[in-house]
Amino acid sequence: MADAKTIDGKAIAAGLRRAAADVSARLRQEMQVTASLAAVLVGDDPASEVYVRAKARACDAVGIQSFEIRLPASTSEAVLVDEVERLNADDRVDGVLVQLPLPPHIDAHRIIAAIDPVKDVDGFHPVNVGRLWSGLPGLVPCTPQGCMILLRSVRDDLSGAEAVVIGRSNIVGKPMAALLLAADCTVTTVHSKSLDGAAICRRADILVAAAGRPEMVKADWVKPGAIVIDVGINAVVQGDARSRVVGDVDYASVRGIAGAITPVPGGVGPMTIACLLRNTLFAACRRRGLRDPLM
Ligand code: NDP
Repeated sequence: MADAKTIDGKAIAAGLRRAAADVSARLRQEMQVTASLAAVLVGDDPASEVYVRAKARACDAVGIQSFEIRLPASTSEAVLVDEVERLNADDRVDGVLVQLPLPPHIDAHRIIAAIDPVKDVDGFHPVNVGRLWSGLPGLVPCTPQGCMILLRSVRDDLSGAEAVVIGRSNIVGKPMAALLLAADCTVTTVHSKSLDGAAICRRADILVAAAGRPEMVKADWVKPGAIVIDVGINAVVQGDARSRVVGDVDYASVRGIAGAITPVPGGVGPMTIACLLRNTLFAACRRRGLRDPLM
């Protein structure tokens, strides 16, 4: 069998960013609206710092105004809720996100619930989760939204496909399953308590791996010709003590059997921030009663 087609997330994300730049320029020129995103960072987790900086840079590059609110790790839950409510009430702000993870003394569910669902660009608020599962328009979590765009780049009509999602987190696995179901796939979720996950995965025409387990999915987990979307981002230490990033899929062996596959890096990763830009523009339009030209 020929090697799988590589799904180039970097190139597809670049196209989304160009489209976002066009929409944000039109909003500015035609409506005098500058879309804006406020990102709240609590504490000094180095990975979170990198993500928040990358989000701000991506906003700047497409003409979305970005605000960074940095709070010390000792911030109380009540103070963080106040900060979120201040951003909810600030008319200049279209999107609000609170970078996760939060320090252990803060209940992330409570903070997410404090965000105005209309500004919830991560799509984690229970209202947006409910809208997604109910088939209503709303803000959809960025990573699974990006996975759907990648899937559709190789197969437009997903109806009737057998889809398996590995992972059931609120951020990736569950919304991914909801989106696949909405696209008329037959959906199975595999998690850490599933019995013989490999056999379930072998049935999949579409396999989405989001377990956070380096190179767990081997060639014998994959149906010949399947589309494989690898969400995993795992740093593994090599023999020379340097670390490299690998996905949840053993790319080297699986590309010999899959029909199409996303690489890590350069697959799902770049799509997440591109979809955050889409969500921010969607929120900016929705708040003003405008139709979003990107959706
Ligand atoms: P979580 O740790 O929150 O969830 C992992 C899920 O995988 C859980 O549901 C867990 O099951 C399941 N799981 C763990 N081990 C196994 C196993 N051996 N077999 C089957 N299921 C298993 O992770 P996230 O969903 O937040 O992230 C998943 C991966 O995606 C990570 O590598 C993360 O870095 C990456 N990621 C990448 C993003 C991107 O932009 N590309 C964005 C977000 C995440 P159980 O519920 O039973 O514990």
